Amino acid sequence: MRNIPSAGGWSTDADPMPHPSERPDSDDLIRARTTLGDFELTILSDGTYFLDGGAMFGVVPKPLWEKRAPADEQNRILLGLNTVIVRTGKHTVAIETGIGNKLPDKLRAIFEAKEQLPRAFSAAQIRPEEVDIVVNSHLHFDHCGWNTTRTPDGRVVPTFPNARYFAHRGEVEHGHLQLERDAVSYTSDNYDPLVESGQMTLLDTRPGETTPIVPGISVECFPGHTAQLLAVHIDSGGKRATYISDLIPTSAHLDITWVMGYDLDPLRCIEERKRFYARAIPERWMVLFTHDHHTPYGFIELNEKGKPQVVSPGV
Ligand SMILES: [Zn+2]
Repeated sequence: MRNIPSAGGWSTDADPMPHPSERPDSDDLIRARTTLGDFELTILSDGTYFLDGGAMFGVVPKPLWEKRAPADEQNRILLGLNTVIVRTGKHTVAIETGIGNKLPDKLRAIFEAKEQLPRAFSAAQIRPEEVDIVVNSHLHFDHCGWNTTRTPDGRVVPTFPNARYFAHRGEVEHGHLQLERDAVSYTSDNYDPLVESGQMTLLDTRPGETTPIVPGISVECFPGHTAQLLAVHIDSGGKRATYISDLIPTSAHLDITWVMGYDLDPLRCIEERKRFYARAIPERWMVLFTHDHHTPYGFIELNEKGKPQVVSPGV
């Protein structure tokens, strides 16, 4: 752990995220492997991408957030796209599917999308055909991009032909509205073909409710980033890991008020973070971060100032 000077009472004692100029190479296909009870967890990466640092930290002043997430000359910070594969012994579950290969050229260039998830599967020796469950926390393009693959001849086909996909019904409906605020975040090719073919099951999990998917895998609704954001709980051997998705996108976002400019309801995000920490900290849940390339998972504790910080990070 590096020691960062204290900044106005915010906790800043975790390692900062890498500067955007630190381009990871191919050995970043697999970000971590670990176990949870009887389950095997493999964190694959669809690659790094770039987003505006201001948008990622909402109203937090740049002098504070850039200590944790250095920005380049275009104010962009380096983010990851983490897919978690859970092997339960009975099921092979994929949580989130990255950015995919269907972005228009302009967006692909802006984000510098790597589109490397298929290579990550190969490196981990996991075949897409083995995956029998896919769970999307929500349907923003950077979370469900490899649900489907664009083939060289322009067709859009399921990336995981033998999987049952799960997403929230409200996300599909919201995406179809194509609202001014967030139309760009929803690419229907990522879900409509799966809904139409019957391969995607749409969930109606209400805020605060939990819905089982398969034994040891369930989703809980934490609204705020979107109205129906789903966290994915993984339970085995009396231990829990939670893919908390965009409620807490990186380990630089742990402070309850450091919510994103992208969040549709930032006040709700703050309340939902409190609700999450009230269980995740005392019960020592492993927290899996969706967009943290540097620290894909860790445990959360309160420091001496009572601020949440990551300890025992996975890498
Ligand atoms: Zn999102």
